[in-house]
Amino acid sequence: MRKAAAAKLFSTETCGRVADRCVQIYGGAGYLAEYPAERFFRDARILRIYEGTSQIMQLQIAKHLLREFEREGAVW
Ligand SMILES: Cc1cc2nc3c(=O)[nH]c(=O)nc-3n(C[C@H](O)[C@H](O)[C@H](O)COP(=O)(O)OP(=O)(O)OC[C@H]3O[C@@H](n4cnc5c(N)ncnc54)[C@H](O)[C@@H]3O)c2cc1C
Repeated sequence: MRKAAAAKLFSTETCGRVADRCVQIYGGAGYLAEYPAERFFRDARILRIYEGTSQIMQLQIAKHLLREFEREGAVW
């Protein structure tokens, strides 16, 4: 579960950065609906929201890491 959350977080955040760069490279044309960059950017944006937002993925990762840490008997 932790690995799935980490994979979802990393891939969708990276996709968002790539889409943002794509719009930047196209300049003003990247913002216009006539060009594919705008659609790519819009489609990429939802990936960080549905199927668990980035913040929820971070909470999941932290929860599992804390659980593993406690299972190993570590002292805070
Ligand atoms: C196009 C689209 C398709 C969808 N398809 C489906 C589908 O097929 N099936 C389905 O079940 N749902 C679907 N959804 C719903 C989607 O899963 C939810 O929008 C998503 O889970 C976020 O929930 P929310 O919109 O209620 O936002 P909220 O839960 O209100 O979150 C708002 C913001 O607060 C943050 N937040 C919330 N809780 C915490 C917390 N504890 N700590 C830190 N930050 C927090 C979130 O990360 C987010 O940034 C879809 C949504 C869209 C837009």
